[in-house]
Amino acid sequence: MEQIKSIALVAHDNRKRDLMEWVGFNWQILCQHKLFCTGTTGKLVESVLKKHAGKDYKFKYEITKLKSGPLGGDQQLGALIAEGKIDLMIFFWDPMQPQPHDVDVKALLRINVLYNIPTACNRSTADYLISSPLFSQEYHPQIKDYSTYINREL
Ligand code: PGA
Repeated sequence: MEQIKSIALVAHDNRKRDLMEWVGFNWQILCQHKLFCTGTTGKLVESVLKKHAGKDYKFKYEITKLKSGPLGGDQQLGALIAEGKIDLMIFFWDPMQPQPHDVDVKALLRINVLYNIPTACNRSTADYLISSPLFSQEYHPQIKDYSTYINREL
C-alpha cells in the first residue's frame, strides 16, 4: 500500500449524512488520495469536497464513481479489491434497514476480510483509520497464502 491510498467510500441511504459529515471534516486529507465510490455516494462525496475546497481548487485525482450499490456497484468494488486496487474502505452500511442488495453487501464485507482490507463501518473506526500513522505511510498488509487451497487435489 503506497502513501497515496485508493480509498473506497460507500454509504447506505440512511448513513449518507454521517459519511458526508466525515468527508467534510476530513476533506483536506481525502483530496490527497484516490477515491472510489458507489454511484450515489460518489456524487455526494464530490459535492461535499467541492463545497469545502472552493471553486478554484485543483483536485489531484478524479473520483471514480461506479454503479449505484443495488445496481452492481458493490460488486464492482469487490472486483477492484480482488484485483488489489483498493487499499482501505469506509463502508457505512445500515444496521436498521434491510437492503435489496443484501447479498452484495455481505459479499463486499467478506472480500474485505479475505484480502485484509482495513474497513471502517462506523464513524469511530473511520476516525481511527484516518488518524493512524499508517494512513500516511507506505504499508504492506499481510496477505494470507491461499496456495494450498488453489492447488488442492480434486
Ligand atoms: P449508492 O450505493 O452509493 O449508489 O447509494 C450504496 C450501496 O448501497 O452500496
